[in-house]
Amino acid sequence: MTIDLSRYIGRHEEQLVAVVQSRLEANTSSALDPNLIRKDVSDQVSTEEVITFLEKLVADELVFANNIKLCASEQCSEAETVNPLTDEELEASRCSICDQDFADAGEPHEQRHYLTHSPISRDIRWMIVVHGFNTRGPWQEELSWNISNKLAYAAPILIYKYGFERLGIFFRSRHKELVKKLGSEISSAIEKSKYSERAGPPDVIVHSFGSLLFSKLLLSDDFSDLKFGRVICVGSVISPQFDWKKQIDEKRVEAVLCHSGGKDVPVRIAQFAIPDSGPAGYLGFNSPSVENVHNKLFSHSSALEPKNIRAQLENGGLWDRFLTAPVGKFGDEDEVKKTEWRPVWKIVRGLSRILILAFLAGSLVLVWAVSSSLFMCLKSSLGV
Ligand SMILES: [Zn+2]
Repeated sequence: MTIDLSRYIGRHEEQLVAVVQSRLEANTSSALDPNLIRKDVSDQVSTEEVITFLEKLVADELVFANNIKLCASEQCSEAETVNPLTDEELEASRCSICDQDFADAGEPHEQRHYLTHSPISRDIRWMIVVHGFNTRGPWQEELSWNISNKLAYAAPILIYKYGFERLGIFFRSRHKELVKKLGSEISSAIEKSKYSERAGPPDVIVHSFGSLLFSKLLLSDDFSDLKFGRVICVGSVISPQFDWKKQIDEKRVEAVLCHSGGKDVPVRIAQFAIPDSGPAGYLGFNSPSVENVHNKLFSHSSALEPKNIRAQLENGGLWDRFLTAPVGKFGDEDEVKKTEWRPVWKIVRGLSRILILAFLAGSLVLVWAVSSSLFMCLKSSLGV
């Protein structure tokens, strides 16, 4: 995403605006050092003017700023790179770079730091992936590979496999069994994670029928102690009315991204076949607490195609930003569909489900009848 700063020309020196523009595009860690920018612009502009412009961009949320503490020792002051003191160093009153106590080095001084992108407030600790029905989710391997390549450490991924589920999706009783199985597996994975370096609530990616199971897990009294990080819904068949705000307020989940697709047909008819489902994968969620991002070219599983997984997880990609940005700092320019969806009448949904099941049962009887008469024909023609 390139930010256009041309609107600031006039109120700020044109050359200054151009230099900051090119530095934003370069997007390196030292891109926005006021002294270096001043040198680039030539001496017509003072450092104060550069800072005034950067602060204006911070106010307009185009640039980020934080206050860092720097070691005051002679060695660290003369260093060419900026090494902000960490919380641990501040607590211990000792700089680990020059190995001096603040009592000897002098009190650390504060400096304003400008950043081209939002500071990462969190990392991907570990992840749970729940796929749709009628698939074992071959995309999950691509996802695991991309996540582990992306991070300097291995973020464990629990891929929940419940096997091929066809007829089970029509029955609430089967949903209940699958939720119980999912919940038990997640509970034991969370329990195990407590003994690893990557403890903390897992992030979650749910697809299709897997998203419905996950939403039912959140509502289940049996698993009310489970907490999750960021949740990405893809091709979701959850009802757009699902109350995510309540889940976020109760700290069951940190934030939700619904990545919907304009060509997702299965989710639009889901409510007629799968109880309690709805077309969130097409319309997004009604709740304003959810980040709804709509891609009009995406079909049911487009977001999970290897090339799209790679693009979404690369630095600055949609999922990367959602998974690593501070809460509330995530925003996207993609088209967002606003909606107030309501399910069709309960009686219509019940009837359509009965019809589908009757049709499936009829097809089974037909297949059985045809194959047994073929078998009889074959048997008599062979004279056995
Ligand atoms: Zn130092």
